[in-house]
Amino acid sequence: METRKVWLVTGASKGLGHTLVKKLLQNNYAVVATSRRVASLIEEIGNTSEVFLPIEVNVTDDHDVKKAIEKGIAHFGKIDVVVNNAGYGQIGTLEELSDEEARENFDVNVFGSLNVIRNVMPYLRHQKSGAIFNISSVGGLFGGFAGWGIYCATKFAVAGFTEALAEEVKAFGVSATVVYPGYFRTDFLANGSVKTPASAIQEYEAARESEKTHLNNISGNQPNDPEKAADVLIAISKEDTPPVHLLLGTDAYDMAKNKADLLNKDIEQWKSYTLSTAF
Ligand code: NAD
Repeated sequence: METRKVWLVTGASKGLGHTLVKKLLQNNYAVVATSRRVASLIEEIGNTSEVFLPIEVNVTDDHDVKKAIEKGIAHFGKIDVVVNNAGYGQIGTLEELSDEEARENFDVNVFGSLNVIRNVMPYLRHQKSGAIFNISSVGGLFGGFAGWGIYCATKFAVAGFTEALAEEVKAFGVSATVVYPGYFRTDFLANGSVKTPASAIQEYEAARESEKTHLNNISGNQPNDPEKAADVLIAISKEDTPPVHLLLGTDAYDMAKNKADLLNKDIEQWKSYTLSTAF
């Protein structure tokens, strides 16, 4: 009989992470769930049990992450699937955002996931199996959105290191997938999740307009369902060879196609310059 698979999900107190954890537990998986406040995990999902381990973790703290993974291994004996989900959107143009605002977004979205990967890989490498899902965004594939440059840069970083990770770990029987969600109806664009610039500059009209549209119109009306995203992640985890790139949502599909077309157009249009540089 196959033993119960153990998932580790970061940022599980709300949104996509929360939906995924609930669904995993309904489907007889075991889950290590992390959040900045363990009380919110217990309130939302439940207390420690044979199948559930809620842990308070600050993903930006390498030591904290290491301890959490050790606790997960001590509780369940293994971890099979890792979902680097914790993250937030920082709105603001490159000029508006302070060094601190930009770095904080990278700390959580990029270095937080790196902390998890660094500390979980010793276990996956030794057990010679495992799957890692790194949640990027369609903004990690196409960055042409005024006022979203730093957030997109964090998600491009996630995509970049996931491609490398997939190559590094495949010899150990471990897969790595970068997930590019389109707009999903979570708290992502709500107060308390998304951050706006501390010092906005009104002259950046396109960015201000985009900020307003996201906060007032898109929030709550996103076209994609987190329950269905959770179903897809569970289904993909059962594939023999999970993909390196996974798009989620019609909007993500369209944006990815658009990006591929734009890239191909530039590649071909400027080809003579591109090919002119050899010795
Ligand atoms: P959400 O705001 O509902 O949930 C985000 C989760 O990340 C929460 O559990 C939160 O506690 C955690 N988190 C946020 N800031 C954190 C911090 N500073 N330190 C540690 N944890 C933190 O949003 P969501 O939509 O569920 O987001 C999940 C992931 O999906 C994020 O990485 C987000 O960038 C990505 N994403 C979301 C969408 C969308 O439309 N919802 C689209 C593309 C990508």
